[in-house]
Amino acid sequence: MIIIENPIELFNICKKENSKGFVPTMGAIHKGHISLIKESIQNNKITIVSIFINPTQFLENEDFGQYPQKKDDDIDICKKENVDILFMPLADSIYGINEPKVQANSITSYILDGFKRPSHFDGVLNVLLKLFNLIKPQNAYFGKKDAQQVLLVDKMVKSFFMDINIIKCETIREDNGIAMSSRNIYLDDISTKDLIKVSQSLFDAKAFILKGELKSENIINIIKENIKSMDVNYVHIIDKAFKKCNYVRISNNIILISVNIKKINYIDNIWI
Ligand code: AMP
Repeated sequence: MIIIENPIELFNICKKENSKGFVPTMGAIHKGHISLIKESIQNNKITIVSIFINPTQFLENEDFGQYPQKKDDDIDICKKENVDILFMPLADSIYGINEPKVQANSITSYILDGFKRPSHFDGVLNVLLKLFNLIKPQNAYFGKKDAQQVLLVDKMVKSFFMDINIIKCETIREDNGIAMSSRNIYLDDISTKDLIKVSQSLFDAKAFILKGELKSENIINIIKENIKSMDVNYVHIIDKAFKKCNYVRISNNIILISVNIKKINYIDNIWI
C-alpha cells in the first residue's frame, strides 16, 4: 500500500489507471468503512481510500477539533484490507483561497440534517468534487447510513455529467443494532441504550410496514412514541427525491431519524 499526502502525486498516479474504486472517509475506520473498502476491492483493479477530516463540512460549534483520530490503526486496517493507495492530505493542500465552489441545492440540502447544519452539505460536495477530480474513480462507495449525503452526491454526479458510479452500501451495525459510526466512541451506557431504542424503532417500523401498515403518519407516531424520552430532531419518511410521503411504497422509501445525544447529532435510517 502506498500512502500519499500530496494531491498532485495522487493525481499523477491515478491518471495511469482505469479501474479505480474510491472510498472517501474521515478516518477512525470501523467495520462500516471496511465493508465499503471490501466492496471496492472486489470490483476494481485498484482501491483508493481517503482519510480527510474535512474542515468545511463542520459548523463552528461542532466537533471538528475533537473528531476521533486513529491514524496508526487506520493505516494498519487499510494495509490488512489490501487497499492500494491511502490518501491522507493536509487541509492546506486541498483548499486554496478565494476558490470557486459548488453549492448544494438549498431545497434538498437545507432540510433534514442540513436544517440545523446549514452549509454542511456544501462542504461535503466541494471536498468530494475535488477528490473525484483528483482520482477520477469509476466507482465511489458510500454508506446508506448517511442517506441524505449519498443521495446528494448521486445528484451532483448526475447533474455535472461526471462519469462515476455512486455505489450505495448497506449500513453495518453493532450486535446491539446501533449503526456503526466513528462518533460512537462518545457514547456511554445510558446513551448507548438510547441509540439502541432508535435502531429498534426503525426495525419495528419496518416490521409494521411489512405487515401492511403503509400510512406514514401512523408509522412516524409509533417511532416517536418509542423514542419520546429523547431529544429528537426529526423522524421522516421520504422518497429518494427527498419528498415526504403520505404512504410508504416498498423499495422507494427511507425512514430517517435524527437525535441529539450530549450535543452530538446521531442519525440512523432504514431503506424500505
Ligand atoms: P465518515 O468517515 O463518517 O465520513 O464515513 C465515510 C463513509 O462510510 C460514508 O460513505 C459513510 O456513509 C460510510 N459509513 C459510515 N458508517 C457506516 C456504517 N455503519 N455502515 C456502512 N457505511 C458507513
